[in-house]
Amino acid sequence: MNNQTKREASGDKWFQLFGIILWISILFLSLGNYNGSLYSIESTMNLVGLIQFIVGLSTMIYAQLNLGHNYSSFLVIKEDHELIKHGLYKHVRHPVYTGGIIVVFSIPVYTSSVLGFLAAILLIPLLIYRMGIEETMLIEEFGDEYREYMSNTKRWIPYLY
Ligand code: SAH
Repeated sequence: MNNQTKREASGDKWFQLFGIILWISILFLSLGNYNGSLYSIESTMNLVGLIQFIVGLSTMIYAQLNLGHNYSSFLVIKEDHELIKHGLYKHVRHPVYTGGIIVVFSIPVYTSSVLGFLAAILLIPLLIYRMGIEETMLIEEFGDEYREYMSNTKRWIPYLY
């Protein structure tokens, strides 16, 4: 914990560890048997995967800009942490994860890899686990303000989940 950090979520290290293993597996499975070129659009799946990649990455970057100095790749509350409820955070509580899921699935879609796609599905329970500890930490810090924010927003997809 550095001197900028006020609170840290325990259990996040498991997410980081399994997340890295999963990322490598998805890349390995998706790219392993791929015969096409990675640098030219040769099929509809290539096009869909590329568009998905751009949409997901843009979502992640925009959400990180919304979070500003409150963003970090680890689950922490900083000394001057503010609860963000504007931009993409007006519509969902975890837009970085929404974008991340879209990006991760873009790779097996690009290469039409069923095994890569199945591996990518494993990311979902991992992120649900992480969101649980993240929301517990945010409730500890912001209390009723976060509880009220939770009752007005969904996690990933507006009106759905
Ligand atoms: N789960 C969010 C944020 C990922 S970045 C998303 O998917 O968009 C992780 C950091 O964001 C954590 O350290 C957490 O403290 C912070 N965070 C999550 N939601 C926040 C919010 N609404 N306002 C401020 N910080 C937030």
